[in-house]
Amino acid sequence: MTFDFDLFVIGGGSGGVRAARVAAATGARVALAEEYRMGGTCVIRGCVPKKLMVFASGYREMFADARAYGWDVPDGVFDWAQFRTKLHAELDRLEGVYRNLLKNSDVTVYDARATLDDPHTVRLSTGDVVTAKHILVATGGQPFLPDMEGAEHAISSNEVFQLETLPKSILIVGGGYIACEFACILNGMGVAVTQLYRGAQILRGFDEEARGHIAELMREQGIDLHVGTNVLEIDKTADGVWVKDTNGVAKTYDQVMFATGRTPNTAGLGLEALGVALGRGGEIVVDDYSQTAVPSIYAVGDVTDRINLTPVAIREGMAFVETVFKGNPTKPDYELVANAVFTRPELGSVGLTEEAARDLEPIEVYCTSFRAMQSAFAGRDDRVMMKLVVSQKTRKVLGCHIVADHAGELIQLVAIALKMGATKEDFDRTVAVHPTMSEELVTMKTPVRAG
Ligand code: NDP
Repeated sequence: MTFDFDLFVIGGGSGGVRAARVAAATGARVALAEEYRMGGTCVIRGCVPKKLMVFASGYREMFADARAYGWDVPDGVFDWAQFRTKLHAELDRLEGVYRNLLKNSDVTVYDARATLDDPHTVRLSTGDVVTAKHILVATGGQPFLPDMEGAEHAISSNEVFQLETLPKSILIVGGGYIACEFACILNGMGVAVTQLYRGAQILRGFDEEARGHIAELMREQGIDLHVGTNVLEIDKTADGVWVKDTNGVAKTYDQVMFATGRTPNTAGLGLEALGVALGRGGEIVVDDYSQTAVPSIYAVGDVTDRINLTPVAIREGMAFVETVFKGNPTKPDYELVANAVFTRPELGSVGLTEEAARDLEPIEVYCTSFRAMQSAFAGRDDRVMMKLVVSQKTRKVLGCHIVADHAGELIQLVAIALKMGATKEDFDRTVAVHPTMSEELVTMKTPVRAG
């Protein structure tokens, strides 16, 4: 049977675009459909605009620090409208870059919604029907809002980049990456932030000590963080959005934002009818090679709900191309994937948390908390935290957790050492770079705990 294309990719996000380009480079005939904007969540309404907002929000503190260092600078006023215009111009530029990458790779692009008629046939909202030998579903995810009355009065992370004006006050619901990042961003921009989290401590799944450290610093910055608390009722009033929480406290905010997780985009694609298995959360079930229960259909990225991070989706897309188009069966490597939460300060993590490691084997924990030179001089009290979790038996560093400015940058480098199997003694014999914060990583001599 002849097909119109060798590969049809559904979804123009990080995973889909990379897979399309790399497959096309092997000489395959490739098409890609995207119903919204090229670049996907990461570029259009995720990592990229979020990080630019992180930068924007950081200046408030810097003005105060600058004065402590002798500069005569007043506290400025943040102009959201000006920033937002520039932000969206940048996103337009990046979308153009993504489009050009596809064009230069000879990938046929359909600006349309795609659904599946059969294991090789894609129907587009433009009316076109095309066939492909392989289909890759890379449709990502979308914010999940709890099914409660009044939730329609709240926004999600999708809308936060589009706000006409910055609210004076906001309630953020959730304790994960997005909730904590936006609590810090909006607080930095001068918004009065209240955050409610239903569990005992924010950032579930991260190292306990790091979670506590971040929560404390968030509160010190002025974020009104309440744990063990959830939203009970929401209503729209003339003054804003009225919320009653599970402690019985009622308050009106300019905006309410749910950051209560994300859900895979699998609805309405025609997947179930073809026999593609979906998991309980609606995610596409795939094997180690990203192949679904239907042999011609593969899936990568957030729609599979493995590790929902852009660089992981990209790796999954590339492993798919290695496997299917280069005859070299390749599994994505999920070992020691470092990540960063862009709170203020950031949390960078790689490997096992202290708690997870302790469940597996006897460990030693090296941990330090100190005032960094730069902020201490400026009179700030916030403390940096650095932790190494070490195997007693192999001496390997099993995990590293850093709460500090630029922890995202630091953890990337630590991840290389861990990926190479570095031991605590390898860290010890590395000469410190002085004076830096990260020199603490190679100068911690005595474990704070063992067992
Ligand atoms: P997370 O899964 O990280 O957090 C969701 C939060 O919402 C949790 O605190 C969860 O509580 C809470 N929650 C879930 N359902 C409800 C409910 N019905 N009522 C109240 N609270 C609820 O999701 P995010 O939306 O923050 O982020 C999605 C994913 O995107 C992340 O997991 C990550 O993979 C990725 N991401 C990565 C970033 C980065 O790398 N810096 C930045 C942003 C996103 P509980 O803990 O009790 O379940």
